[in-house]
Amino acid sequence: MKGWLIKLRGKEMSTFLQNISTQLQGIRSGGLYRTRQQTESACAPIVSVRGRSLLAFNSNDYLGFAGDERIVEAFKEGLSMYGAGSGASHLISGHSQAHTNLEDKLAKLLSPYIEQAGALYFCTGYMANLAVMTSLVDSVKGEAEVFSEERNHASIIDAVRLSRASFSVYPHCDTTALLSLLQKSNAKLKIVVTDGVFSMDGDLAPLHELVRICEAENAVLVVDDAHGFGVLGERGKGILEHCSVSSPHIIYMGTLGKAAGVSGAFVCANSEFIDWMIQRARPYIYTTAAPPACAHALLTSVDLLTGPEGIAKRKHLQELIQFFKLGVSEQFTLGGQTAVLGCRDYRLLDSSTPIQPLIIGSNEDVLRASETLFEEGLWVTAIRAPTVPKASARLRITLSASHSTQQVERLLNTLKKI
Ligand code: PMP
Repeated sequence: MKGWLIKLRGKEMSTFLQNISTQLQGIRSGGLYRTRQQTESACAPIVSVRGRSLLAFNSNDYLGFAGDERIVEAFKEGLSMYGAGSGASHLISGHSQAHTNLEDKLAKLLSPYIEQAGALYFCTGYMANLAVMTSLVDSVKGEAEVFSEERNHASIIDAVRLSRASFSVYPHCDTTALLSLLQKSNAKLKIVVTDGVFSMDGDLAPLHELVRICEAENAVLVVDDAHGFGVLGERGKGILEHCSVSSPHIIYMGTLGKAAGVSGAFVCANSEFIDWMIQRARPYIYTTAAPPACAHALLTSVDLLTGPEGIAKRKHLQELIQFFKLGVSEQFTLGGQTAVLGCRDYRLLDSSTPIQPLIIGSNEDVLRASETLFEEGLWVTAIRAPTVPKASARLRITLSASHSTQQVERLLNTLKKI
């Protein structure tokens, strides 16, 4: 009997593995196989990968805070104050003073834009998006309709699916199409959701117009500002500060593992909604709270980000962006060049943020481009479908305030040389 069971299990297992192997083969032959490059050093402009020292243009560490000594020290201080782990979920015993301090700081920071602002700290931005969407839809017992931007991040797409609300997708930045969809809807709760800065394109959502439409149509506007918080606005408060927009319709999500350099995310909204999420948001309730040391380190990070140093870093970053864009456009037009990196259909997207995607087109071409750069000592990641639409595979070049002008010059020269 025992032998028969093992045999049966073995048979089931091999069928399941065979199916997976066939599919993996398909992924490889379609040029869509993904690998992880292992780093052996801290996140910084120069990183060590497989024993090689590379100049990296692929992190979201937009202000260079991931390796900042003061934030590392604050992390260590948090570890000695609170230990390594939180020990439980927030509603059991895992909620610490550090979590509260961080939430208070973030709510105060965004209070000019959000009435009666409260904030909630999450382990990740992915979970924050799941939490916002599911608890909003839950507030009307499923009688909601979601209007989701075409280029939204995967975590928003998954959040909408998990909420089980009916939804429509509106074309990229097309507020006219959005308005007509909203006007046709009879849902009890209408929810518009958009990235603030589009993560793979680098452009901004038309926030003024979105707020105007949502106010007119009585819809909630969820803004995922993962790539805007710390980067946009004079004091780094993100897209709300950048656009000088405030509205009771806005629910704001910012991540803390990108420009803030640590980990996690937060939602800032009217404190009633924050309270509702604490009661109902399953991705908040049923998971172990992030280590309090992360929240403690983030107190220092948010102070740096909003203070004079943050302002200076954003100024330097803007200069690098301008320098890069100018360099690329000169390089592309000079000498009647029709090909860069051996690819014909390249183009730089119109982005004013540190996300500067160079569209290459095919999967094979973008992989070859990325590998060639790697050989030259530069690390730029190839982004392919389904992360971006098919045939728009790209090098997602990201700039950071920790880069020097000379390093960006090296990137430009290498692109040119190749
Ligand atoms: N939203 C956007 C737009 C993102 O780019 C990301 C991460 N790449 C997330 C949410 C998820 O954030 P986190 O990495 O903190 O889970």
